[in-house]
Amino acid sequence: MDESCDLSGWKISHPARPGAPEGRDVPEVRPVPIGPIAVGGGRPVVIAGPCAVESRAQTLEIAEAVREAGGDMLRGGAFKPRTSPYSFQGLGEKGLEILAEVRERTGLPIVTEVMDPRLVGLVSRYADVLQVGSRNMQNFPLLVEVGRSGKPVLLKRGWSATVEEWLGAAEYIAAEGNLRILLCERGIRTFASRDGCRNTLDLTVIGLLRRRTFLPVLVDPSHATGDAALVPAASRAALAAGADGLIIEVIGATTDRAEIHCDGRQGIRPAVLRELVAAARATPRDCRGVTR
Ligand code: PEP
Ligand code: MN
Repeated sequence: MDESCDLSGWKISHPARPGAPEGRDVPEVRPVPIGPIAVGGGRPVVIAGPCAVESRAQTLEIAEAVREAGGDMLRGGAFKPRTSPYSFQGLGEKGLEILAEVRERTGLPIVTEVMDPRLVGLVSRYADVLQVGSRNMQNFPLLVEVGRSGKPVLLKRGWSATVEEWLGAAEYIAAEGNLRILLCERGIRTFASRDGCRNTLDLTVIGLLRRRTFLPVLVDPSHATGDAALVPAASRAALAAGADGLIIEVIGATTDRAEIHCDGRQGIRPAVLRELVAAARATPRDCRGVTR
């Protein structure tokens, strides 16, 4: 049996049939409702916000900019996965409280990361969407817990994960009865990072995923590039490649990048976000996720 058929009995996966007529073996994208928004519903969504919640004022300023730009949801980490234990780790529950207050004021649903299975209950009380980060894509106890939470889950691709491994991770969530999963390509690690690009944005994976699953696929151009100047083109390319939406890091209009604790180089300014929201609105897609 073709190895690619191993997942055929699984709930979210569809066996790839490379010989089938173009487009005919691709399942329809099943939209994931989040409040009034349908991710995968033909209108690409834009999730935007700071890398980390660093203060109430910073989060509120950026959230208002996201709303004014026409963004659909607010992102922001309260628990940050940092390479060094001495780096800013996020504000923890205080950060979640800030996010909840900002949601009250702006109406934007909140996407925030959870890293620890023991904290899924806490983060679920505040979040509209639980993010599982790249470093935790195969943290199986965490996947089980977010599956049990019943919350929508934004599952980032591990930076060296194959499609099989990624769908296997999604299947852990689905196996708990939670099919509200958003896959998110955020760049993979290749030799190109030596040229100053944080990761390599793998846009081909959108088409590969379309053959295998009905789950919506988002793209994160911020962690894929690590450089604000590279984010607009990467975002437009992702939309053209059929992404169901973008998740983008944003900084304040006049904030000094050097003052930001986390990922200051890659956050775009609100004016750039406005253009990208307009680009997203201008690229609707059909039920199979193909850009029209
Ligand atoms: C993030 O979204 O802030 C983040 C840490 O992303 P990733 O897990 O893709 O590195
Ligand atoms: Mn970040």
